[in-house]
Amino acid sequence: MTNRRDLLTLAGGATLLAATSVEAAPGKTYAFDLPVPSLPVVGRKERFPIRRIYCVGRNYLAHIRELNHDEREPPFFFAKQRDMLVQNGETIRYPSLTHNFHHELELVVAMKSGAQNIPVEQAERHIYGYAVGLDMTRRDLQQAEAKKEHPWEIGKSFEQCAPCNAVRRIDDVGPINSGKLELLVNGQVRQSTDLKNMIWNVAEIIHHLSLQVGIEAGDLIYTGTPEGVGPVAAGDKMRGSIDKLGALDIAVA
Ligand code: MN
Repeated sequence: MTNRRDLLTLAGGATLLAATSVEAAPGKTYAFDLPVPSLPVVGRKERFPIRRIYCVGRNYLAHIRELNHDEREPPFFFAKQRDMLVQNGETIRYPSLTHNFHHELELVVAMKSGAQNIPVEQAERHIYGYAVGLDMTRRDLQQAEAKKEHPWEIGKSFEQCAPCNAVRRIDDVGPINSGKLELLVNGQVRQSTDLKNMIWNVAEIIHHLSLQVGIEAGDLIYTGTPEGVGPVAAGDKMRGSIDKLGALDIAVA
């Protein structure tokens, strides 16, 4: 039987091999092929393989106010599955079960290493780079579950819920803690802020998340959305951008 390493080598050679982080150890085989989702890296041939996707719940005061939440809460996290990642330029289908499908434009941090209990002052050394992401949300389902004190899972974790553009390396763009973030839907501005309005900055987010779980290479962290969240419909075209990190173009069908 052919193992995963052989399959990848036959299919794509060295570049494709580099795109994966989980390969069969020598002598091991799997029952079927399971690709590792990944993102392109600007200026590099190799891709960034995804291990986990975490998202910050609430991180901009004006967004907390628009949804009537407690302003003093510490950051909290939820997860999306890595196969829910969507590449820049793709069209997503309007998802099942919802009648209120919302955009949330966010700075995404891509980790090259990690640990548990990372001190704030050591957080930056674990950053590989940054990207522009959309935390797509079935708002009606999220709010209905929250009312029942149930998990947010059904509102936040579903097919094609995590669009993200190419990763820019921190070595190329420097540490990012400020800069304009903007989302257009069909050319109209829906969300616009500066990253410096985040309640918890990137280092503090990494610190807090690492108290809860171990962070490792390949993790993506969506850092929360500013105010202006709202619905999209089939036919809409979203363009999100952040200074130094380019644009993310996603259409809804
Ligand atoms: Mn969000």
